Amino acid sequence: MFIKAVNLTKIYRKGSSKIVAVNRVNLEVKNGEFIVIVGPSGSGKTTLLNLIGLNDYPTSGKIFIDGVDATMLSKRERRKIRLLRIGFIFQTFNLFPTLNALENVELPLALAGKSQMEQRERAIKLLKSVGLADRIFHRPRELSMGEMQRVAIARAMANNPEVLIADEPTGELDSETSREVVGLLSEINRKQKATVIVATHDERIVRVASSVYRIVDGKLSLE
Ligand code: ADP
Ligand code: MG
Repeated sequence: MFIKAVNLTKIYRKGSSKIVAVNRVNLEVKNGEFIVIVGPSGSGKTTLLNLIGLNDYPTSGKIFIDGVDATMLSKRERRKIRLLRIGFIFQTFNLFPTLNALENVELPLALAGKSQMEQRERAIKLLKSVGLADRIFHRPRELSMGEMQRVAIARAMANNPEVLIADEPTGELDSETSREVVGLLSEINRKQKATVIVATHDERIVRVASSVYRIVDGKLSLE
């Protein structure tokens, strides 16, 4: 997938005040790149990732997916891209608390119309690949933070997306667990040739990136 942001801008209005969270960002992400976006808290990282991941609409500017203007697509087409072509990983995992690890990973496969058998086989394979073969029936609260993030990675990879977007994926993790998560992201990028886009403060992630950008007050620049 080739992603291109042109003058991407997101303005939040609260009463009479106005926050320019993402300010005329231009960015090109080619297939197979590993992009890292660093910046202080409140600088617009989450807002930018949500725009790139089609979770949100820009106030102005455009985002192109393989040359197609994503702001012009229907809700249904955007949802399909999010489900099948983009995996999203959140800082606080966002797993469903009532579902076990296996069911959390099966969910996007079910939404994609895979049979029960395909869902189960694929979910088990994914959980094995992140080292959780012996945790598949555990619910999120029965898992450590690192294990929850690994379930979230497995879930994000369920439909074999072309792009994996991760918002401060090691923000809640200790250094040993962070190292494992960085290893997984790097492996997904190298072996599965997935594009990886990560917002982070983590120096270890910066080291494995193919390009590093900095965002300050919504303005993005190449490091
Ligand atoms: P980061 O992820 O780098 O910490 P965010 O993208 O979350 O930054 O936020 C960027 C700016 O936009 C911050 O000033 C934040 O307070 C503001 N902001 C984020 N989301 C909203 C929202 N839904 N409504 C109003 N302001 C928001
Ligand atoms: Mg954030």
